Amino acid sequence: MNSNLPFSISTPQACDLCGATDAEFVLSTNRLDGPLVRCRNCQLVYVVVGSRDRKEAAWDNLGNCPTIASEQVAAEMVRLSERAKELALVEPHVEQSEQPWRELMARERLGDLKRFVGGGRLLEIGCSTGEMLLAAKDSFDTFGVEADAISSRTARERGVQCFNGALADAQIAGEKLADASFDVAALYHVIEHFPSPRAELTELHRVLKPGGWLAIETPNIANVWFRLLGARWRQFIPDHIFFFTPQTIRRLCEETGFEIVELRNAGKAMSARLLISRIGRYHQPTARALSAISRQFNFDDRTIRLNFGDVMRLYARRK
Ligand SMILES: [Zn+2]
Repeated sequence: MNSNLPFSISTPQACDLCGATDAEFVLSTNRLDGPLVRCRNCQLVYVVVGSRDRKEAAWDNLGNCPTIASEQVAAEMVRLSERAKELALVEPHVEQSEQPWRELMARERLGDLKRFVGGGRLLEIGCSTGEMLLAAKDSFDTFGVEADAISSRTARERGVQCFNGALADAQIAGEKLADASFDVAALYHVIEHFPSPRAELTELHRVLKPGGWLAIETPNIANVWFRLLGARWRQFIPDHIFFFTPQTIRRLCEETGFEIVELRNAGKAMSARLLISRIGRYHQPTARALSAISRQFNFDDRTIRLNFGDVMRLYARRK
């Protein structure tokens, strides 16, 4: 990991947390959609490319930056073009078999949330195919927002009220989401994907009632795995743009009108099959050997609980 390269990057967009445009280079990897940088002012870690739409512009900007050698930019562009190959490491049959564990995780997240709030109107941003909202239906009046059209349609087919698009455009029955109309907003592995987490939390502050609850689960980059593995840390995938620490997420929440009540590590339940597939991202021969053993001993459907300490879940109240 090249964490101490002696140059800065003039970022094409201001830091989403503090507005500064002075960031230091952290690393480059084809697993991300652009170079990873750290704001020198507030320490927020983020990918320079704010969205795929702005990818070309961002690379142009980097190419024009005199502090980075042009061949380095070209090498990064070649690596970026390998993104699809990288993504091929996701095995479709494994992902499809994982549905029971997605439902298990949804129930566990709901149970955890209910320690703070037991009912009312629940808004989930990035609800995917609706597992969490389906689990919550008995106790909450639920509404989802999902950017992916196919996932959103699946959620609706399952009976989840779900808007396909961005939070800022979301409508219920043709009406924009009203001010102070929700008791809870939940975002599980979503905030790191937004072009501007600050804009999303500002909008959630608008739609939440005073005293309403915000639940966020996101990777925590202040962990030993990132320090050990660098660019090979499992949370580096092309869709991830922002990597928070407890300090930076706390500052973002406070500045957008939320008070953090609890922040701790969050684990994950998954099948042995998925775990072995993920190990394949690091070492294919090991994964193949484990996969054969697992199949022989009918181990694929066993539930594995992991907590690497690199994911945090927080609960905050709207001020
Ligand atoms: Zn900053």
